[in-house]
Amino acid sequence: MILVLKQGVDDETKKRIRAELYQKGCVLREVNGGDQSIIVAIGHGDLAVETLMAMDGVAEVIPMTSKFKLVSRQWHPHDSRVQVGPITIGGERIVLVAGPCAVESLDQALTIAREVRRYGAVLFRAGAFKPRTSPYSFQGLEEEGLQILARVREETGLPVITEITSPSQAALMDKYVDMVQVGARNMQNFELLKCVGRLGKPVLLKRGLASTIEEWLMSAEYIMAEGNDHVVLCERGIRTFEPYTRNTLDLSAIPVLKNLTHLPVVVDPSHATGIREKVAPMARAAIAAGADGLMVEVHHDPDNALSDGPQSLYPQQFGQLARDIYVIAPVVGKQLDFDYLEKARRPSPVQTRENACMAAYVGEPGGFSHMACSQYFGNDVQLTIKSSFREIFDAVAIGEAQYGVLPLENSLTGSIHENYDLLLDYDLYIVGELYLRIIHHLIGRADTRMADIRRVWSSEAAMAQCRTFLERHTDWEMVPVHGNFSAVTQMRDHGHTGDAAIGSREAARHLGMAILAESIETNPRNFSRFVIVGKEPLPGRTKSKSSIVFSTLNQPGALFEVMKVFAESRINLVKLESRPIHGKPWQYMFYADIEGDIMSPEMAAPLQIIGSKTDFLRILGSY
Ligand code: PEP
Ligand code: MN
Repeated sequence: MILVLKQGVDDETKKRIRAELYQKGCVLREVNGGDQSIIVAIGHGDLAVETLMAMDGVAEVIPMTSKFKLVSRQWHPHDSRVQVGPITIGGERIVLVAGPCAVESLDQALTIAREVRRYGAVLFRAGAFKPRTSPYSFQGLEEEGLQILARVREETGLPVITEITSPSQAALMDKYVDMVQVGARNMQNFELLKCVGRLGKPVLLKRGLASTIEEWLMSAEYIMAEGNDHVVLCERGIRTFEPYTRNTLDLSAIPVLKNLTHLPVVVDPSHATGIREKVAPMARAAIAAGADGLMVEVHHDPDNALSDGPQSLYPQQFGQLARDIYVIAPVVGKQLDFDYLEKARRPSPVQTRENACMAAYVGEPGGFSHMACSQYFGNDVQLTIKSSFREIFDAVAIGEAQYGVLPLENSLTGSIHENYDLLLDYDLYIVGELYLRIIHHLIGRADTRMADIRRVWSSEAAMAQCRTFLERHTDWEMVPVHGNFSAVTQMRDHGHTGDAAIGSREAARHLGMAILAESIETNPRNFSRFVIVGKEPLPGRTKSKSSIVFSTLNQPGALFEVMKVFAESRINLVKLESRPIHGKPWQYMFYADIEGDIMSPEMAAPLQIIGSKTDFLRILGSY
């Protein structure tokens, strides 16, 4: 049962309700949002709506319709996020879990961990207790394997995950690892489920070889019923009649789960296919289908692996897969952040200071810049809104904000020149970038029909980007508004049925409005590129892209001379933009983006030559 409490109910009353339900033998969860609270009570079939309604402080009682309760989205409409060490699974960031099937030695585990970390993995997987089909196959290094995993975490900073095969291993798991995996063969081992529920560590629950989605969710329910909400579901293929792959990856389980449950979903394409060549295509498809992450087997010497060699990717193949995922993720509104582990592990010096925040942006909550911030930093960091781009630069320069988030260009409308100029005015670095897909929806009241619409509120930019759709409705009166979120807010506050607005899905959700027409932008390849600016370059991972700005000597072929250095050094130029130099008519600054890390030793020589061929050169950042 879901008990919706009366608005503003006091803590004393809540406590009384909880105590009464607890006495009835209920499992309880409480969600508080603003002055609205709900209590979820799961009993044994003897909870009558009337009795619960009669309780002081209860406004409404909604019976839960599905068999599964705590895992259900019915009481928890937002996606859950599961914390594993510093890493959050779920939300807008794709999480890559990688490692060998089994721990074989310290050297093997460390070698692979360093490789997968370099390519973007944020969690390390490897089995120490292996549930093998044959009793004569390698069974794992057991406690020694767990000790190796703890060493791997110490040396690489990667939190570690391993399979638990028996309740008797609980204490060892508690001592050595960050997350436990319940394997496919144990999905319905109820004593083990209860045990990991009580253990309280995050759990990766794999789908059974021949289990339905409902059975799988009931197993997750077992874990949660013990008080452990840190559950991640892992689709790893089910057994069908098809022999060409080891199992059949049930990709349709992803959207089904996303509808039924709030728990994060990751996909294991390695056990699903059993064949190295099939892993990357299915991994890409899984992310496109909405998975929150991937768990991939990787081995540096798969021919000699003690288990699952044929399905293990070589580290470079994993690296290529990560790059593909980086490109696919923005299409489905997510990001793969290669610096995530680095950032998550570093305590933020500014966050610990009072009144200081993580990042500053220009716009409105629920707007595109805000979405960029939450995709880059996660949802829990403190953000601040500024009214101009210059104020963002000021805030970062004086340490009021640790980072600034700035739109730099749009794939349809081009560069935002003001920010290019500001990059030059301030001594800040570009430390990251992010591509956000811009999708516009027509938003209105749930009871508004398309035929009723007379007036549409929208920003000028959104109107331009939805021109083809709007041309089909020339009778609509267009009301220009500053900002996409404002368009929806104003429509909601001042409009009637017959009014609609153009805005994002987040804006509609935030303001409780309905989407009347989906994805109405003319060109679906509508992306904005944001850069993250900070006071100092980020240490750590090798960077894959760099930005520089330079001006050339005022002589024939000067720009060509610089370009020649890039060409001869085989440096790939991915963008070149020119801006007039203030106070020097007809002279230009060139902003260039190149592939590779400009601070790396290989770049030192070409950079020096470029320096000699320019009269101004500054590195804006590598990321
Ligand atoms: C594993 O992850 O190594 C494993 C044994 O997986 P599954 O339980 O999905 O077969
Ligand atoms: Mn395996």
